[in-house]
Amino acid sequence: MTRYVYAFAEGGRDMADVLGGKGANLAEMTRLGLPVPPGFTVTTRACREYLATGAEPEELGAQVAQALAELEHRIGRELGGRDNPLLLSVRSGSKFSMPGMMETILDVGLGDESVPGLAKATGDEHFAWDSYRRLLQMYGRTVLGIAPELFDRPGPTDDPAELVEDFKTVIRDATGEEFPQDPAEQLHRAIRAVFRSWNGERARLYRRRENIPDDLGTAVNIQVMVFGNLGPTATSRGSGTGVAFTRDPATGARGVYGDYLPDAQGEDVVAGIRNAVPLAELDRLDPTSYRQLVAHMGTLEHQYRDLCDIEFTVERGTLWMLQTRVGKRTAEAAFRIAEALVDEKVIDEDEALTRVGGAQLARLMFPRFEAHADTKPLAHGVPASPGAAVGALVFDSAEAVRRAAKGDKVILVRRETTPDDLPGMVAAEAVLTSRGGKTSHAAVVARGMGKVCVCGAEELTVDVRARTLTTPAQAVLAEGTVISVDGTAGTVHLGALPLADSPVGRFLDTGKRDGVLTDAVSRTLQHADSVRRLGVHANADTPKDAARARRYGAEGIGLCRTEHMFLGERRGLVEAMILAEDETGRRAALDALLPLQRDDFTGILAAMDGLPVTIRLIDPPLNEFLPDRTELAVRVATHPTTRDRRLLTAVERMHESNPMLGLRGVRLGLVVPGLVEMQVRAIAEAVVERLRAGGDPQAEIMVPLVGTVEELRIVRETAERVLAEVSDAAGLTVHCPIGTMIELPRAALTAGRIAEAADFFSFGTNDLTQTAWGLSRDDAEASFFPAYLAQGVFATSPFETLDRDGVGRLVRIAVEEGRATKPGLKIGVCGEHGGDPDSIHFFHDTGLDYVSCSPFRVPAARLEAGRAALANRGEGTSAAAWTP
Ligand code: PEP
Ligand code: MG
Repeated sequence: MTRYVYAFAEGGRDMADVLGGKGANLAEMTRLGLPVPPGFTVTTRACREYLATGAEPEELGAQVAQALAELEHRIGRELGGRDNPLLLSVRSGSKFSMPGMMETILDVGLGDESVPGLAKATGDEHFAWDSYRRLLQMYGRTVLGIAPELFDRPGPTDDPAELVEDFKTVIRDATGEEFPQDPAEQLHRAIRAVFRSWNGERARLYRRRENIPDDLGTAVNIQVMVFGNLGPTATSRGSGTGVAFTRDPATGARGVYGDYLPDAQGEDVVAGIRNAVPLAELDRLDPTSYRQLVAHMGTLEHQYRDLCDIEFTVERGTLWMLQTRVGKRTAEAAFRIAEALVDEKVIDEDEALTRVGGAQLARLMFPRFEAHADTKPLAHGVPASPGAAVGALVFDSAEAVRRAAKGDKVILVRRETTPDDLPGMVAAEAVLTSRGGKTSHAAVVARGMGKVCVCGAEELTVDVRARTLTTPAQAVLAEGTVISVDGTAGTVHLGALPLADSPVGRFLDTGKRDGVLTDAVSRTLQHADSVRRLGVHANADTPKDAARARRYGAEGIGLCRTEHMFLGERRGLVEAMILAEDETGRRAALDALLPLQRDDFTGILAAMDGLPVTIRLIDPPLNEFLPDRTELAVRVATHPTTRDRRLLTAVERMHESNPMLGLRGVRLGLVVPGLVEMQVRAIAEAVVERLRAGGDPQAEIMVPLVGTVEELRIVRETAERVLAEVSDAAGLTVHCPIGTMIELPRAALTAGRIAEAADFFSFGTNDLTQTAWGLSRDDAEASFFPAYLAQGVFATSPFETLDRDGVGRLVRIAVEEGRATKPGLKIGVCGEHGGDPDSIHFFHDTGLDYVSCSPFRVPAARLEAGRAALANRGEGTSAAAWTP
């Protein structure tokens, strides 16, 4: 028999696969003896089977009935009974936290017959009917799929009993059926609705963004209801609900943080519908519950050895723990907490490294606003997610998405956000709300995304219908007005404030630490460097970029693209080279280019003195260096000159329908006489110059787009001859390893042969991805990628994260066969994937020697390379920094 149901007492926190995160943590708290309302969890497997077959597994009904009977027996109350009825909350909870993305139904079990019993048991008739009203509304929306606005009543009525009648009519009219009075039916249909919500639109969008697999399914937690909305009165019997953090999730500072909302249910806090008071206020309102809560928070931090966030309810003076999890946090808090826990001897440096990620480090390198003490803010709010953003005001999600698609930067402004606003939040630079606290929906979701957020800016009046924002000074800002949002200070400013470097960016640039955060980043990076096996190089084409990369910790240049050296003023020389009618003309053009190239290389070799600099011979098709064909044709038609006519003839001669697969890379070197020779001579002479200046140049020559060893052999012969000539002339030995890129499937599949002529390999995974998939990145990204991502063909673009199954397989084959020919062959990667966290883990696993990425990605790559090395000591590797 398959088990689909576990009582809380039977689980534990390591069962998140089966029970979902929420269920596993409820079980853990139960095991720890914390006051958790009793209940049971329906497994993720039941959900998966439901979604696969469209029906619950056969045994599920009986197992739920039995768990319910045990629960009823244990607490001596009956679901929806006439006397003090047992009511249940039915909550989703997948392995990974997806806040607000799936469904919850509260007060399940209530009906016409049990309302009086609830009123009697609580002594609060209004509360009993209001609970029934909530159930009808949630059930109607979630289980029956009724549009939420149908439950918006025109005139407010204080009488919830009247609303109950109204809502029953809404349900009848919308569905043609009565609200089910049978508590067991309510429960079963609620469970099914939670299963279905796994595939709801916002849940799918969230998963795609957070890289959560689509096939996990959600568990369903069924738990005895406790009520925070039983009146705020009488201190010792007060009720309320709140969210607490064991450390500040925004900064990582130690302490008790959170919000408390007297006389309310949990949903009200999370939805940010009402403004909460700081958690410390609970100490005044109900010191006993506060002290108990603080003690439980200590227990949980000790148990989880990390920041925990907690949802709790006080029901008439009794504290109940409703949920806990390792809390989401900002990037800043992640680094600070990890290193603080090391100092507190709770975890070691290895574990600290597993708790942060390259993406978080990259986020911290983003700029902030320059000190703006002189700029008077338009308004203040809660600093919910730090960072700085500038953009145009928009008032709804659709507009945010529309403008962002055009490339505009926008700030999404709402009174409060709901899960429906998610697409707009994704599209916006920042989110600004006039209501809600640090734990409102807007705050929680924005923090998770690393998006700037200020919430609860109550001084602002947001009129979504009129699409205006009114400031306390009565200025009315229309949609499109540019504002600046400071998520660190919690302020909103008119216009675009100047952005300044971040302290972490500054630290990485200068090496100077200036506080707890830079200390934490520095320590973590140092540890990553001490454990990583992968080298980290940079892709840099100028001495300035090379110097920056070196400051960021690059251990060499893995790709110096030489093509930019053919642009700008040098275009004329390139044109002359292409148009030359005889050997003498071409020679002259190449001779003029040579010293320019030599100077480029000398500068880069100086900036990277002592470290390898892999210089790639020219790659793009030469026609890219000639004028645009259409413009030229127009010019020739209107103002013909001999030069333009010749140019047009050349452009037409060289025109290719598909230049990506045309005369480029090594092919150019084989058909344009003197080109390879000139580039190699420039490199060799730069090496000589640096040697004469007392430097330690480590130039390497890399040949692009090789498909067969023969191509490489021919280039190699030329290169070796030129190196020998330059050495002889200079009276010095110029030694440059000669290697190749592996960026065509044929190269990968014949890597064993290619290795015979190569001193090293470097994977060009940009081209390897294009050619393995048979698509051109520039065309595909603009045309069908959005549709592919939307339909789930790709979880992420294969140009961002390496496609392990396809392109990755080619990489593995090439590594294996290359090293079979030449044991110890040096192998790196210099495509974009070299800076992508997930791909770095793959390259580590595959045994590459180094990754090479843009200078700004170097620090994150160092971190991820360290994490990959640690993950390998354990089991499996993944770039996910931490899982809630
Ligand atoms: C590659 O193809 O991965 C590569 C690094 O070369 P480029 O992007 O210059 O084509
Ligand atoms: Mg390439």
